[in-house]
Amino acid sequence: MDSPRISYNDFPEQDEKRKRLVLDNGSKIAVVGSGPAGSFFSYYLLDMAERLGLDIYVDIYEPRDFSHTAPKGCNMCGGIVSETLVQTLAADGINLPPTVVQRGIDSYYMHMDVGDVRIETPLKEKRIGAVTRGSGPRDIKEIKWESFDGYLQKLATAKGANLINERVTTVSFNQGRPRIKTRHGSSRTYDMLAVAVGVNSPVLNLFNGLDIGYHSPETTKTFICEYYLGSETIEKYLGSSMHVFLLNIPRLEFAAIIPKGDYATVCMLGENIDDDLVKAFLDSPEVRATMPLGWQAEKRSCWCFPRINVKGAQQPYSDRIVFIGDCGVTRLYKDGIGAAYRTAKAAASTAIFQGISIDDFRQYYMPACKTINSDNAIGKLSFFFTSQIQKYRFARRGLLKMTIEEQDLKGSKRCMSTVLWDMFTGSAPYRDIFLSTLHPAFLSGFLKNIASSLGRE
Ligand SMILES: Cc1cc2nc3c(=O)[nH]c(=O)nc-3n(C[C@H](O)[C@H](O)[C@H](O)COP(=O)(O)OP(=O)(O)OC[C@H]3O[C@@H](n4cnc5c(N)ncnc54)[C@H](O)[C@@H]3O)c2cc1C
Repeated sequence: MDSPRISYNDFPEQDEKRKRLVLDNGSKIAVVGSGPAGSFFSYYLLDMAERLGLDIYVDIYEPRDFSHTAPKGCNMCGGIVSETLVQTLAADGINLPPTVVQRGIDSYYMHMDVGDVRIETPLKEKRIGAVTRGSGPRDIKEIKWESFDGYLQKLATAKGANLINERVTTVSFNQGRPRIKTRHGSSRTYDMLAVAVGVNSPVLNLFNGLDIGYHSPETTKTFICEYYLGSETIEKYLGSSMHVFLLNIPRLEFAAIIPKGDYATVCMLGENIDDDLVKAFLDSPEVRATMPLGWQAEKRSCWCFPRINVKGAQQPYSDRIVFIGDCGVTRLYKDGIGAAYRTAKAAASTAIFQGISIDDFRQYYMPACKTINSDNAIGKLSFFFTSQIQKYRFARRGLLKMTIEEQDLKGSKRCMSTVLWDMFTGSAPYRDIFLSTLHPAFLSGFLKNIASSLGRE
């Protein structure tokens, strides 16, 4: 029967509420994409439904097979997961096993033209974990870690989601309900559609054309590549540290080299990263000094230029449709997986406890997106200040001097190290990081160090 349907909830007998679109016993939900957002959404939707005794059906559409090595099984990412996310998931009963999260990174090196500094995790609980999104780079010899995306997908299917290993090619409406078609399959109509296709899929254009108020996010091109070095060489040259580069290279916002078993992952974020920018970075003396002797930048195991969301989508919801993860709203540059978790869970709880109309999503889902969007505005400001520091040698010197001097202090007194750690790892909201920089101890320490560096210019 077509909508409106009455909810399993005991709604008061008001016409207004009767007309609401809600999930009911037998409702069918399609989830397009099984990256973190799609799998988290499916898992939490089924989990919440189960708790309420609500019998729903979830189909997940995903063309990738995460047991494959890249690029067939990979969702292109640096793979850093904050300890905050690992602990939040544990509180929800999702314990990521050590075969999925490598928690070996205990410090980072900040590299600048004016010198380097090793920064220990300021507080012990702020360790960082690394994951592999697929089953490893193209030339992997031995698969040592389980795919993170594959693990989440299994959680969702264990909860009862049905995995359809196909790419969605057409989306339309059938009497107000979303209809999905894959290249080889027939059309299926659903009561609700959760879109979790990220920002690297042409299918986004289909949604832009649906006339539902949705406009896909603004994006920019990034760069990721993997180098096979072998675990002994990794240990010798990179150790258990993430290596972060603050270099004065125009358009480069941030770059990191992350040790992962036998491989080193290079990640570059900035404004439309292209071959020239990649070359400028990899040829820089700072990178050359970090990588092993004889390392050849062009000898890569695997590389790609994925897009990243830099400004959230407009109206990531409509009647019966919600956009989660990267194709909706995500955190600027950092902790995209954490943002996928937050938007997916907010969308699932809206759908189960409130309803699936445009008004329900506006009222109960949108606040989660707005929190991320407002934090991103502060993040942009923070990245602007960082870029100013990158530009001026005296500022870089001041930053380095302050960070080096802090390393002998207790964790809580290392103001600059904590700010840098949170900024680079995405462990804290940008708002908290920004507020830390307004602390008198931080400001006076930084200004003092800048002033002393100015004298040396
Ligand atoms: C260079 C770079 C580095 C990053 N580093 C980090 C990091 O260190 N830590 C972190 O937390 N985040 C990082 N991110 C961000 C992170 O990758 C994303 O925020 C996260 O993957 C978003 O998850 P998602 O599920 O929304 O989208 P995705 O992970 O992109 O998943 C989308 C899924 O949809 C599927 N799909 C696409 N089209 C279709 C279709 N037509 N039909 C069916 N399925 C489809 C895809 O196959 C894919 O599995 C990084 C991003 C980039 C670009």
